[in-house]
Amino acid sequence: MPDLEHKDYHILPFQFARTPQGDMLLVNEGGDFQFFPRETFENFVRHRLEPTDPAFFALKSHLFLAQDELEVSLQKLAARYRTRKSFLRDFTTLHMMVITLRCNQRCAYCQASSAEEDARCFDMPASVARRVVEMIFQAPTSHPKIEFQGGEPLLNWPVLETAVLYAEQCAHESGKAVDFVICTNLLAITEAQLAFCREHHIALSTSLDGPASLHDACRKTRGGSGTHALFLEKLDQARAFLGPDAVDALMTTSAFSLHHLQEVIDEYLLRGMKGICIRSLNPYGFAAEQAAALGYDAADFAACYLEALDAILAVNRRVYFPEHFAALLFSRILTPFATGFVDLQSPAGAGISGVIYDYDGSVFPTDEARMLARMGDRHFCLGNVLRDSYSALFASSRLKALTTRACVETTPPCAWCVYQSYCGADPIRNYLETGDELRTMAGTPFCVKHKLLFDGLFERLRQADEQTQDIIWSWITHNPLVAQGHEDA
Ligand code: SF4
Ligand code: SF4
Repeated sequence: MPDLEHKDYHILPFQFARTPQGDMLLVNEGGDFQFFPRETFENFVRHRLEPTDPAFFALKSHLFLAQDELEVSLQKLAARYRTRKSFLRDFTTLHMMVITLRCNQRCAYCQASSAEEDARCFDMPASVARRVVEMIFQAPTSHPKIEFQGGEPLLNWPVLETAVLYAEQCAHESGKAVDFVICTNLLAITEAQLAFCREHHIALSTSLDGPASLHDACRKTRGGSGTHALFLEKLDQARAFLGPDAVDALMTTSAFSLHHLQEVIDEYLLRGMKGICIRSLNPYGFAAEQAAALGYDAADFAACYLEALDAILAVNRRVYFPEHFAALLFSRILTPFATGFVDLQSPAGAGISGVIYDYDGSVFPTDEARMLARMGDRHFCLGNVLRDSYSALFASSRLKALTTRACVETTPPCAWCVYQSYCGADPIRNYLETGDELRTMAGTPFCVKHKLLFDGLFERLRQADEQTQDIIWSWITHNPLVAQGHEDA
C-alpha cells in the first residue's frame, strides 16, 4: 500500500539538534538555519508537511527541501558552500614571523615560553628574515599579511626593519599588497620605532588583561613587577603617533580574571579601546606548566564569556563596542561569507591559511605547533626556509596529510553536529591531548566550549529585540551606524 500521506518533495542535506528549549534547530550545508517545533520537524522528515504550511515555504526558501527544482536548489546550496569555503582560494594569507624569542616580560601564561631578555641565539638573523620574506611572496595570495611575533619583536628591531623594507620591495616587484602587524607588549617601544610604524603603515596589536589588579596578576616584567602603569604610558605614546584607533588589544582570560570580566570590560572602555576580544587560555608553554593555578573548566569559561557578552551587548546600546569573537561567530551564523579566522575553520587553517616561521627559519603550520616544539615536540615542523623550497614546505605530503585530518566534516561527532558549518578543527590541540591529530571531539574542552558558546549565541539571536539585532549586524558589518538611533532612554 502506498503511504497516502506521503508528500512529494526532496529533503536536502542538513544537521539538526534539539535545543535546550525543546524545539529543533536545523542547519543546512550552506550554513542557513531554522527553528521549528518538534512536531513540524517530524512532519518534515516523514514527508508529511503540507505545501501550504508556512514551515514548508521557510524550508524551501532556505534550501532544506526542494520540489521539482531539485537540480537548481543543489546548485544554489553548492554555491553557498563554496562561498563559505572561499578562504581555501587564498593560500596562504597570514604569515607570522618570530623575530626573536627573547622578551622583556615574563607573563605567567606565556604560551611561547619566551626566553630571557639577554639570552643569546634566539634572534632571527637578517639572512633568515630575507629568506622568509621571499617564501611569503611565493604564496599564491595577492595580499599577504605579515605578523611580527615573539617573544617581544621590538627587541630585534633592526631585523624587523629589514623584513619590512624587503617585503615592501617584494610587494612592489610582484604587484601584490602587503599588510604588517607587530604583536608587542609595548613596554620597549621608542619614538623612532613609532615613526617607522607610521611611515610604513604598521598596525600594533597588544595585550591588556584588565585593570592593574588583573593585568599585573599575570603580565609581569622579568624582575616580577607589574606592567600595567608603563603599558598605559606607552599606549598613550603609541596613540599620539599612530592615531587613537591604531592599537588593538587582546585579553587572555586566566583564573584570576575569569569571574571579573566586567572589570575587564570597564577597563577597556576607560582606556578608550574600540572593542574587546575575550580569549580563553591555551594549554601551551608556561600556561601548561601553570595549569593548576591559571586554568579553569571549559564550561566555566563559556558561562562567564556569555555573561560578559550580555554586558557588552548592553554597553552597545550606548556606544559601539564589539566583542570580536562573538562578531566572528555571528558572522558565520548569519552570513554565507568566509571569515578568514584561521583558528576556527574546516579544514583547519594550519599551514593553508596561516603559517609561522620560527627565529631559526623552522616552519610550523600554526603558532601552537611552534609552541609545542618549544615544549620539546617538533612533530609538526614542516621544514626550514634555509633548506627547503616553497613546494617542499607547502605542497608536502606532511601538510596534505595534516589538512586531510583537520576537517569537521570527517571528524566524529562533528560530522553530524548541528554547529558543523560554523565550527572548526584543531589538529594541534588534538595531538597535544591524545598524541593523534584526529580524535573524537565528544567531551573535549574544545568541543564543550564551542558547543556552549554556539548554544548561547543562538539563544541570544532568538531572544534579540530589534535593537540587539541591529547591534549584532553593526558588529558583523563593522559599521557603528547600523546600530544608531537606539539610544537608551
Ligand atoms: S606573553 Fe608575550 S609579552 Fe608575555 S612573556 Fe610571552 S612573549 Fe613576552
Ligand atoms: S567541535 Fe563540538 S561543537 Fe564543534 S563541530 Fe565538533 S561536535 Fe560540534
